[in-house]
Amino acid sequence: MTATAKLLRLFLVDQQLRGLKSRLTAAERYLSQQDATLKELDAKGALLASQLRQLEATAKNDEVEISAIDQRVSALRERMNNSRTSKEHAALLTEISTLKADRGLIEERALGGLTKIDELRKQSEAVGAERAERVKVRDLARADRDARAAEIKDRVAELEGQRAEALKEVPKAALTAYDERTALGVDDVMAGVEEQDRRNMDYTCGSCYTHLPIEQVSILLRRGDLTTCPSCDAILYMEQTLREDITTSNEKKRKKSAAASAAEE
Ligand SMILES: [Zn+2]
Repeated sequence: MTATAKLLRLFLVDQQLRGLKSRLTAAERYLSQQDATLKELDAKGALLASQLRQLEATAKNDEVEISAIDQRVSALRERMNNSRTSKEHAALLTEISTLKADRGLIEERALGGLTKIDELRKQSEAVGAERAERVKVRDLARADRDARAAEIKDRVAELEGQRAEALKEVPKAALTAYDERTALGVDDVMAGVEEQDRRNMDYTCGSCYTHLPIEQVSILLRRGDLTTCPSCDAILYMEQTLREDITTSNEKKRKKSAAASAAEE
């Protein structure tokens, strides 16, 4: 088996592995998107909850403050009823009206706070509802990912075994060339030679459709040494059937011309 043929065996296994894993990769990507959305919603919910806690604490303080003022006012009223001088009466009245003004301000603030609390509670409920929906979507995504992983598990293990076997056979230089191209993330690490016109020896790269010099085609036909596309740098190979086909027709041609020259003699 030539270096190119050995490498091709590895390439074909890798292609199958990539194909199998691509659906799983897509499912994994979708799942992590759902997880990210949930995280965002959680952060939003936590922020709302902490704002709510603060406002509720302020509302509680306002309540306490108002009832303290009320107690103070009723105590002052009692003293006012028992006051002996009009001066004392007037002083108490002033204090009461100051307290009432304070109470009004606090009440106004408390009312604003309650409105805000209502608003935040609604927002928080909406986030909670959205989260519940998102959890369903995420759980489905997770189940889908798990199903896909389970689906291909055996086949992946099988192919990985085949890959290890194929890998052992590949000459070092060929493997380096292959790994370099794989590391670049190129899809077509290898490309098949395509026949356009046998009579005119017109062959193209199966990846970028560039016409190939006849020397390269000959290398692949005869020795199968590693040769790359001059344009896209893919490692070239020739399908077994095409090679046999060309070899057979070359053979025929040779026999025919041999027969012709024999007849001439
Ligand atoms: Zn090419």
